[in-house]
Amino acid sequence: MLELVDVKKQFPQPGGGTLTVLDIPKLSIDAGEQVVLIGRSGGGKSTLLHTIAGITKADGGQVIVNGYDIARLSEAGRDRFRAGAIGYVFQTFNLLGGFTALENVRLGMTFGSGRHDIARARHLLERVGLADRMHYKPSQLSVGQQQRVAIARSLAGRPKLLLADEPTANIDPANQQTIIDLIRDTCREEQVALLLVTHSMQVAEQFDRIEKFEDLNRAMATASI
Ligand code: ATP
Ligand code: MG
Repeated sequence: MLELVDVKKQFPQPGGGTLTVLDIPKLSIDAGEQVVLIGRSGGGKSTLLHTIAGITKADGGQVIVNGYDIARLSEAGRDRFRAGAIGYVFQTFNLLGGFTALENVRLGMTFGSGRHDIARARHLLERVGLADRMHYKPSQLSVGQQQRVAIARSLAGRPKLLLADEPTANIDPANQQTIIDLIRDTCREEQVALLLVTHSMQVAEQFDRIEKFEDLNRAMATASI
């Protein structure tokens, strides 16, 4: 489902010079497999998720998602592919401020196979505990509520791959377990491959496989952070 080979990414640094953030010889995730990524802050986990989604372009190597080499798609093709096949919970949520919670979730299914499935959008919002907040805009929601909308949105389009960047970071323990159950059960039922970043071992242990980012990423062995 997901295959990374020799993926490299460097960033020019504000003070001059370049920083190699990613140097990943190999990472594979099978269809329906649930993988957790743990590793220190600033190590490049979000950069990796951006690169897999084609939001950031790798400097070298291959990122194959569902048989497609992301780098070889046109920009429009990449956007369309991402919208149809990849669900993304951004660390910063990226909700659209002018739209309600329900509208944001429905936007997540525009290109997916569930396209007009309003019942699914409502159901997902109920599952994240926001039945009474569907018509609120992001500015009218707490940070944790916004995060829960972002999680509902990421699953709305029935993705083949879900990238979740610290999806429970702003959520209280009781709701955290609800969210983890939703992600784990939906991915299992719908055979979604999952790559989830967390700093919580309690969260990590609930999934199939844990990958330590410093073992995957050779750039971390040489970086001085
Ligand atoms: P956290 O756990 O805190 O979210 P992370 O592992 O997700 O950290 P990234 O956000 O991927 O880390 O950042 C990795 C490194 O890349 C950081 O040192 C950061 O400063 C650098 N970096 C990220 N984006 C850019 C950019 N656009 N330009 C320059 N440097 C960048
Ligand atoms: Mg991050």
